[in-house]
Amino acid sequence: MKTPELDKFVDETEPWVCTQCGYCRTVCPIFEQVGWESASPRGKLYYIKELLRRTESQQGVIDDEFVKRIFQCTLCVRCEGICQTKIDMGRLWQGIRAELGSRGLWPKEIQDLFDATVTQHNLYAMPNEQRTVWAMMIEDEILPKVGKVAEVGYFVGCVAAFTGRIAGIPESTVAILDAAGVDYTILGPDEWCCGNPLFFVGGHSAAVELAEHNLEKLRELGVRTLVTNCAGCFRSFRNEYPQLLGRDIGIEVVHFSQYLARLIEEGKLTFTQSKAITVTYHDPCELGRHCGIYDEPRYVLNSLPGVTLVEMANSRAESECCGGGGLVKGTNPDMSLDIAAGRVDQAVGTGASEIISSCVTCRLQMSEAARTKDVEIGIRDIAEFVADFI
Ligand code: SF4
Ligand code: SF4
Repeated sequence: MKTPELDKFVDETEPWVCTQCGYCRTVCPIFEQVGWESASPRGKLYYIKELLRRTESQQGVIDDEFVKRIFQCTLCVRCEGICQTKIDMGRLWQGIRAELGSRGLWPKEIQDLFDATVTQHNLYAMPNEQRTVWAMMIEDEILPKVGKVAEVGYFVGCVAAFTGRIAGIPESTVAILDAAGVDYTILGPDEWCCGNPLFFVGGHSAAVELAEHNLEKLRELGVRTLVTNCAGCFRSFRNEYPQLLGRDIGIEVVHFSQYLARLIEEGKLTFTQSKAITVTYHDPCELGRHCGIYDEPRYVLNSLPGVTLVEMANSRAESECCGGGGLVKGTNPDMSLDIAAGRVDQAVGTGASEIISSCVTCRLQMSEAARTKDVEIGIRDIAEFVADFI
């Protein structure tokens, strides 16, 4: 069977190297929830192989069950890490989603989200002019930053910009940047979605316009270092853009946890407050497994006066997903929340009184899970937590 979209992402021989050992089943958060082979990475690969085996006359029939299962994946890539045959699972899942899209088989939630991102330039289909709505309480400080020339750019991202209940993340970020004396700019209405939701479904060609727009606007302002809170934005700029555009993007991309570590090391960020508290750190999939950033957030937390950091049973490359990735929140909201609840339970087991993460989505997911399941533990982004010590 011809699969032109899938072929753009992985070699068509890739699924065939699966030895069906089943190790990937032991780490997949979706398989843990569903319990059916068809929901496991191995089961999905088996079906992809069946598709590839089909002759011309058998083409055209892709059953709904398969489509449903392909979108039951957080793209956490834990399967990739454990696979002995080193199948490039991240690219494979992107590619098969692209293939389904080219056949008009995406679930409605996915199509709507894709369309909003492409046409409205944010995944919430909000007027993009409202990008600074998060700053409505500090407009006098923030509006002068919009579109100013500066070497450091702060890319707020759709989730933090439009989700009022985490406005504390960008507010804390700018408070820290100000405290450290950093001259920075933000794009405001000129900021377009980084394209992460498109990358999740293999919509790379549609993401080119977003990437080129963002890079052009940042270049116009003289930005040389770009800072993001969102692990998804970070991964898009750092990993996807150079691959997508086939060139070095010419801007250093730094996650805010890394930038905090840099400011502390350079003596630009000092702490006036001390607080005796035990916290645990949740590694976001897109910052950890996808980008290999594990040490800097821990360095930052260990630098805070009075703070004790304890690790969960699963951390760093073995970290469990918060359930918010891969657009699963859109297609399977209850399952997504149950995965987050599992992670919160693991954090409670450490005795920590707060979970600190470095991603806006993880923060939202775990807060919602703790609230819904009535679990007593605080959840904050590293920017919110650090801001309390300055
Ligand atoms: S771990 Fe790799 S080889 Fe083993 S079943 Fe999963 S995909 Fe196949
Ligand atoms: S990426 Fe994560 S959720 Fe998706 S199949 Fe692999 S382990 Fe399961």
